[in-house]
Amino acid sequence: MNSTDSLGYLVPDRRLMHNKRPRVIIVGAGLGGLTLAMLLEKTDIPYEVIERAPVFKPLGAGIALSPSTAPLFIQCQIYDEFVSLAKRAESIRVVNEDRETEYCINMTNMEEL
Ligand SMILES: Cc1cc2nc3c(=O)[nH]c(=O)nc-3n(C[C@H](O)[C@H](O)[C@H](O)COP(=O)(O)OP(=O)(O)OC[C@H]3O[C@@H](n4cnc5c(N)ncnc54)[C@H](O)[C@@H]3O)c2cc1C
Repeated sequence: MNSTDSLGYLVPDRRLMHNKRPRVIIVGAGLGGLTLAMLLEKTDIPYEVIERAPVFKPLGAGIALSPSTAPLFIQCQIYDEFVSLAKRAESIRVVNEDRETEYCINMTNMEEL
C-alpha cells in the first residue's frame, strides 16, 4: 500500500518494490545486447535476449578491441579467458586501393598503455 508524504505526494512502498524483481528484455544480440546480458547474468537479474537473425553465423571478420576495453573485461572477470582466445595484433598496416602500404602502426608496446 502506498502512502503520501507531508506534501501529499505518493511514496511508493519500498517493500513491494524490492519484491518485484525487474525482468529485462534485450532486443538485439549484438555486442551491446550480449554485454548487457552478461552483466545481468552476473547480477542475477532475469533477462531475455530477442534477436531477429534466424541463425548466428561467422562473418569472416575480426573485431579489434582497444586497450580501453581491458578494465571492463577485468571487472567482468572475462579478461583472462578473452586473452586466451584472442589474437594479439602486433601492428596495423593501412593500405591504399592498390593494396600498397600507406603506413604502419607498431602496437608491440600497447599493453603498457
Ligand atoms: C565492417 C565492420 C567492422 C567493425 N570493426 C570493429 C572493430 O574492429 N572494433 C570495434 O570495436 N568495432 C567495430 N565495428 C563496430 C561494431 O561492430 C559496432 O560498434 C557494434 O557491433 C555495435 O554494437 P550494437 O550492439 O549496438 O549493435 P550490433 O552489434 O549491430 O547488434 C545489433 C543486433 O540487433 C539485432 N536487431 C536489430 N534490430 C532488431 C529487431 N528489431 N529485433 C531483434 N533484433 C534486432 C541485429 O540483428 C544485431 O544482431 C565494426 C563494424 C563494422 C560494420
